[in-house]
Amino acid sequence: MTIRVTVWNENVHEQEEPAVAERYPNGIHGTIADHLEAAGYDVYTATLDDPDHGLDDETLADTDVLVWWSHCANDSVRDIVANRVVDRVHEGMGFIPLHSGKNSKPFKRLMGTTCNIKYRHGGERERVWVVDPGHPIADGLDEQFVIPATETYGEPYDVPEPDRTVFVSWFEGGEVFRSGLCYRRGRGRIFAFRPGHEEYPIFHQAAVQRVIENAVEWASPTEGASIGWGETDPLESTGE
Ligand code: ZN
Repeated sequence: MTIRVTVWNENVHEQEEPAVAERYPNGIHGTIADHLEAAGYDVYTATLDDPDHGLDDETLADTDVLVWWSHCANDSVRDIVANRVVDRVHEGMGFIPLHSGKNSKPFKRLMGTTCNIKYRHGGERERVWVVDPGHPIADGLDEQFVIPATETYGEPYDVPEPDRTVFVSWFEGGEVFRSGLCYRRGRGRIFAFRPGHEEYPIFHQAAVQRVIENAVEWASPTEGASIGWGETDPLESTGE
């Protein structure tokens, strides 16, 4: 069955900064959605300004994987919507926060930590190294790829120890950063991917698009087993 992807973007920089609008005429979400659509996924987009931020119960119920970009409006996301996303991840929806989406309410709630980092603007070069070459999210990539200019992130990154680290970035200024981290929460798979600062055309890069596509594939729900929670009767006779 075709994987159903919702690409969510706060879509604020695109409306306020002409350079970002020029870089992403249909929004960051539009660029990501175009690529995923071309790759054969069933793609829907939603933004902060939509009613319920475009993430009502029905939309989320129909979403296999939620790709998320946010930055300056992280605090404007309503708690009820953030909690709805968290609940859906526990039920099995894949969740892929990109770049500063690490500061989103859903990701921070799923991690239970501050998600703090060091950062610096200035357009340094980033080299993204594949450190888990057998991981499906690294399919088709070379051992490293370069983002010519970006915002720098630096360790320590205050997140729980991930299940797998797929990418580690090096930056011109000397910092390193764990750029691709895999988690499970409940039935859901989470992949936090660092690249994607809005001041550079990063989502037009083929390697970045390939990672997002691979991550959608990896994070999509599997059927799994059916289980029941709570008080339960013994399966074997425990009496005399
Ligand atoms: Zn940024």
